[in-house]
Order: sequence, then C-alpha cells, then structure tokens
Amino acid sequence: MIRYFINIITGAWSLIIGLMVTLKNTLRRAVTIQYPTQKLPMTERFRGLVDLRVEKCIKCYQCVKICPTGCLAITHSETPEKKKELVTFKYNMELCCFCGFCDQVCPTQAIYMSKIYEIATYGHEKLHIDLLNPEKYREWLNPTVK
Ligand code: SF4
Ligand code: SF4
Repeated sequence: MIRYFINIITGAWSLIIGLMVTLKNTLRRAVTIQYPTQKLPMTERFRGLVDLRVEKCIKCYQCVKICPTGCLAITHSETPEKKKELVTFKYNMELCCFCGFCDQVCPTQAIYMSKIYEIATYGHEKLHIDLLNPEKYREWLNPTVK
C-alpha cells in the first residue's frame, strides 16, 4: 500500500519537473529560424564557394599548385610589354573540398572563400564555374524560395 502512494507521489513529481522544463523553454527566445525564408549571416571564417577578385590576381599559380583536388585551372597570356593577363580561371566545384588552402596561400587575397552556400543544382555543368564571369553566382546569390 505504501509503495502504491510512493509511486503516485514520484510520478506526480516527475510530471511537475517535466512541465517546469517545458514552461521554461516556452518562454525562451527560439534558437531556430524559418529557413529558407529566414537566413542567418555566415560567420567570419565560413568557407562557401570559391570566388575571385580578378583585378588582384598576379597570376602566380600558387592556388592551383596547392589545391589538393586539382579543381582550379588558370591560363594567361602576355602582352608585348610582358604584362600577364588572365585568359581563363576555371573552378570545378564538383571537386572542391572547401579546404580554403587557395584562400590561405594567395599572396594578394585575390582568391577567397565566399559566404555562398545554397548551391543546389540539377546539372553537373553548372558546377564548372568560370571565375572570370561576374555573373557566375547570380543565381545562387538570389535563390528562389519555392
Ligand atoms: S577550397 Fe581547397 S579544394 Fe577548393 S579550390 Fe580551394 S584549395 Fe581547391
Ligand atoms: S594565388 Fe592568388 S594571385 Fe596567385 S594565381 Fe591564384 S588567385 Fe591569382
């Protein structure tokens, strides 16, 4: 008989504890957001898609050499005044492991990890990116929320 009442009391007490936890968290500010209609700003060190400040590139090829997956490819030409000009700067995002080595090794901060992360696509061809094209990430910068 005593055991019966002890069970009722401990059961009621654990119910009260549970309800107190629920009440406490109900009054707290939500830590989740309504993604994709709401988005958080990415942190300073977030590594999104690789991007390029074309005017800063000195064509040293260090990013190409250090890339562990070989997803960067550059070609350049030389003017009669021996000035180097970029001809192509390809980035194969399919191979990129987002290690950030290219960003770290670049002496002029020309190549860098952007904050773009919404990179879903239906075709492989869209993952082969021309970093010289200023419109390359337009679609991913303003993804349509369906
Ligand atoms: S983040 Fe890493 S894998 Fe991607 S391009 Fe840079 S060095 Fe290559
Ligand atoms: S390391 Fe920087 S400066 Fe050198 S080729 Fe790559 S992007 Fe250009």
